[in-house]
Amino acid sequence: MPTENKSTISHDHRPATELTFEEAVKGGARLIPGKAIAAGIRAEVKRAVDERSKNGLRAPGLAVILVGEDPASAVYVSHKTKACEEVGVMSRRCVLPSDASQAALESLIDELNADSEIDGILLQLPLPGHLEAPPLLERINPAKDVDGFHPYNIGRLAQRMPALRPCTPKGIITLLQKSGIDPKGKDTVIVGASNIVGRPMALEMLLVGSTVTVTHKFTSNLAHKVAMADILIVAVGIPGLVKGEWIKPGAVVIDVGINRLECGRLCGDVEFDAAAQRASLITPVPGGVGPMTVATLLENTLLAATLNP
Ligand code: NAD
Repeated sequence: MPTENKSTISHDHRPATELTFEEAVKGGARLIPGKAIAAGIRAEVKRAVDERSKNGLRAPGLAVILVGEDPASAVYVSHKTKACEEVGVMSRRCVLPSDASQAALESLIDELNADSEIDGILLQLPLPGHLEAPPLLERINPAKDVDGFHPYNIGRLAQRMPALRPCTPKGIITLLQKSGIDPKGKDTVIVGASNIVGRPMALEMLLVGSTVTVTHKFTSNLAHKVAMADILIVAVGIPGLVKGEWIKPGAVVIDVGINRLECGRLCGDVEFDAAAQRASLITPVPGGVGPMTVATLLENTLLAATLNP
């Protein structure tokens, strides 16, 4: 299998399922090109939005609520609104001061629920400490819940009747599909059990017929669990938590973590270089899962507009 200069990453474009065990181990992993796949999804959304406009339908509308001045949240919000612009989705930033009250957020959500130009409402998390996120997420009309965090939408996913699905896990399913990976019958191990990634990811993987193990901060012998994974999905927020040597040769590795090191560099939760020696496919950080989350948000906003004209 061809390899690119010093890197262990090869550019053989066959699906990982077509690689032999020896090829997977010998050649090093192929990168899953999240950035390029996300660009394809955005192009599909743009085509659909243009089509709507030709048919005299208004642009889908997304409202993003940002409370306070958390710099990381501000960056995420600007990525999301820029992506909307690029595909013709109307976006509205609703910025509240860091001392905004729970009641102020409730009435903003009520207004947006009633606004006929708004198809999707996103509450950027985390919120300042004095605010309670769960009742606010639950106040969003489930039909406009483009983040898919409302208990109604999580319940539908759990009962195999998905409607609006959480963006990061849904984006990972798209990444697997586009990379030729069929999770049916495979052993998936998820590291991290948060409401926004780990838990809904487990539901998504069950939905596609995978056998799922979910691990978290109370899990004993994480290395042993990770070693069972044909598909490993890591979402914790600790750089290098998952050691390369734990990974089953030929596994598919999806690193959701985004960590900024002291030197300013971004990295994931998996020891990338060592993992790439053993995996058959691996996502880079940055440029793997992150762009898929934003592209999936656009997909969800379009879906919400289509379902609720
Ligand atoms: P979180 O803090 O809400 O959850 C972390 C999870 O990791 C918890 O379930 C916890 O039990 C588990 N955990 C903690 N220590 C552990 C350990 N030693 N072993 C096993 N599990 C452990 O985090 P989150 O919101 O799910 O985000 C996780 C990471 O993913 C962060 O780096 C975040 O920035 C990133 N993220 C990326 C995207 C994206 O689009 N790429 C989207 C969401 C989150």
